[in-house]
Amino acid sequence: MTSKILVTENLTVSFDGFKALKNLNFSLEPGELRVVIGPNGAGKTTFLDVITGKVQPTSGRILFKGQNLRRQTEEQISRLGIGRKFQTPRVYLNLTCWQNLELSYHARKSVWGTLFPRPPRDERRHLGHLLEIIGLVPQAQSRAALLSHGEKQRLEIGMLVAQSPNLLLVDEPVAGLTDEETGKVGELLLTLAETHSILVIEHDMEFVRQIARQVTVLHEGTILCEGTIEQVQADPRVIEVYLGQPQE
Ligand code: ADP
Ligand code: MG
Repeated sequence: MTSKILVTENLTVSFDGFKALKNLNFSLEPGELRVVIGPNGAGKTTFLDVITGKVQPTSGRILFKGQNLRRQTEEQISRLGIGRKFQTPRVYLNLTCWQNLELSYHARKSVWGTLFPRPPRDERRHLGHLLEIIGLVPQAQSRAALLSHGEKQRLEIGMLVAQSPNLLLVDEPVAGLTDEETGKVGELLLTLAETHSILVIEHDMEFVRQIARQVTVLHEGTILCEGTIEQVQADPRVIEVYLGQPQE
């Protein structure tokens, strides 16, 4: 048995012979906040796709809370407690913030939840607390369409948390946000890290500096190095792959 929340062992994903991930050995401690960085095409999105069951491993395996995810569907993996936030917000624009959270809260139909539904009073308290955490109490009754891009990102993170996952996978949460909004999303992830394991993929190095404790650098489908942000930024191999990238 392992005490890690997530482990990948020799994980390989091939697309028609092209290996997007090559023998990847990765692990995450319960309660850890990890940031994965890497140049375009490094395999970051594929890494999230294979954890969530969107693509299947070609070889190797993934263990979540010690359980092999082999042949589990996306739906099953999500019910096991892995929540994924995609890059663009997927909120219901015509519903209020509160209604969006309520929907997500009910979306997780576990057998346990159906047998022992929480009383409505508990639900209101729970969702109210969540609104505070995501900093959207004043917007509770506003339609999501009226939110700024950063507020939508925070709402969607709240919707993810409403489904009570143990592990949150967050793909580039601050792309296109202002500095102020970026700071707020960073604070939110730090708060959530007190109660969840979180894996964040990010490009924005300022943001990585704000939130990161441990950083994993992916390059050509394998781990180039791991360490604190200072350690990885000083690593000549990391400098080389970043400098070797065409400027956008
Ligand atoms: P990143 O998110 O780090 O930019 P990706 O995981 O999206 O990288 O992609 C890694 C590599 O795998 C890229 O070369 C990409 O072209 C390739 N790739 C990703 N998904 C597919 C797919 N469905 N079919 C074929 N090639 C793919
Ligand atoms: Mg990507």
